[in-house]
Amino acid sequence: MSNDKYSKYEVIVGLEVHAQLSSNSKMYCGDSAEYGAAPNTQVSPLSLGHPGTLPVVNEKAIEYAVKIGLATKSEIREENQFARKNYFYADLPKGYQITQDKTPICTNGVVEFELENELKRVRLTRIHLEEDAGKSIHDIDPYFTLVDLNRAGVPLIEIVSEPDIRSGDEAMAYLNEVRKLVRHLEICDGNMEEGSMRCDANVSVRLKGTTAYNPRSEVKNMNSMRNVKRAIEFEFIRQIDALEAGEKLVQETRGFDAIKGITLSQRSKEHAHDYRYFPEPDLPPVIVTQQYIESIKAEMPKLPAELKYEYINKFGLPEYDARLISDDKATSNYYNAIVENTQNYKAASNWLLGPIKNHLNASGKDINEFELKPKAVVALIALIDEGKTNFSVASANIFPALLLSPEKTPFEIAQALNLIQNSDEDLIGGFVQQVLAAMPEKVAEYKAGKKGLLGLFVGEVMKLSKGKADPKVVNKLIAEALS
Ligand code: MN
Repeated sequence: MSNDKYSKYEVIVGLEVHAQLSSNSKMYCGDSAEYGAAPNTQVSPLSLGHPGTLPVVNEKAIEYAVKIGLATKSEIREENQFARKNYFYADLPKGYQITQDKTPICTNGVVEFELENELKRVRLTRIHLEEDAGKSIHDIDPYFTLVDLNRAGVPLIEIVSEPDIRSGDEAMAYLNEVRKLVRHLEICDGNMEEGSMRCDANVSVRLKGTTAYNPRSEVKNMNSMRNVKRAIEFEFIRQIDALEAGEKLVQETRGFDAIKGITLSQRSKEHAHDYRYFPEPDLPPVIVTQQYIESIKAEMPKLPAELKYEYINKFGLPEYDARLISDDKATSNYYNAIVENTQNYKAASNWLLGPIKNHLNASGKDINEFELKPKAVVALIALIDEGKTNFSVASANIFPALLLSPEKTPFEIAQALNLIQNSDEDLIGGFVQQVLAAMPEKVAEYKAGKKGLLGLFVGEVMKLSKGKADPKVVNKLIAEALS
């Protein structure tokens, strides 16, 4: 069987993620770090690497690195040195990047996530602070490469994992978890398409049951989770084919061609850079005290896993609801705002994951752009709980009308649309008697055991009430009349 040669092997993957920190200024100077400004407008002599300029560490970046360190259960280093990583490139004006070499701010962390109902743990080797390079633009001028140095010096964290990932799907789930974490912590917008999160994958293969590593390829600079998965799956096949053909694999850097779905060799180890790291002489070490770490800990937001636990154990939500709501920070914020004012936690989840999500999907909106304030959803839930309407009428009629007039209350809308349902037991009891009296054979069948007929009776009563009887009361009164 042709598949056999692949099933003997496993893929070994470690990921390096560069995440752009969402601070206002750059890593070592006060220039704006905002994305999208006109080229080369956010560049002081520091960003331009002029001789004699001196770097200063951005305190916000330290805070953000401590936050991700705490969220990943990392050890956080007290004495942080910075180092120069030397290389020449047109978008690197200083001729070196200021990064951390031997003293990364975080070490020995872990990222935990679920994949197909199994808990996976990917260990983190390190998380360090550094600065981004500028941007070379190759596709505007036909003859020249243009350089935009706005991005030069923007703060980054680099999150380096151990080679604990065993498939493209696992890599995607890991990246998704990292993105969830940085978004919940509000330290990075996690937008891979805009380059705020970029990923390098170290990929090798080996025979299952063996422990030695074969030479790995490092696939550089991918900007979508899907491409990371594709590159890993491509490398798995390519490397096995090479080994099975008796070729020798070499450690090399490769690029991923997203259109062709293949990786291409860029340079092998013989041509690897020697970065000549040495301690940055212009920056004193940054001391991160235990007291400082405690103060950050005190203001940490709840993380997705904690939120999910709380939704299940405090609010009694099913696992499915809890996961969907806790996955996204804005969604969980919205949910938390609803349940501050209602005890009907499941109804809040039903609204959020049902009509609200459908509406947002259909209109291409984000929950942050949702027309209704959480208190409007609270009012919808109350209207149903008070028996003035039911979920199907509220979601099909009141909710869409409310979206058009968000300044009105659900009750006002229900009244205006003549949708307030009736819970008057005398009135509904009269309808019940009328319906049952008109169908003596069905009543007899019901009493003989054909319990499915209940729906028919309910339907008839609802019809008589012109859809305005409270279904709960209808059900109750029919059950009583037939018992
Ligand atoms: Mn780096």
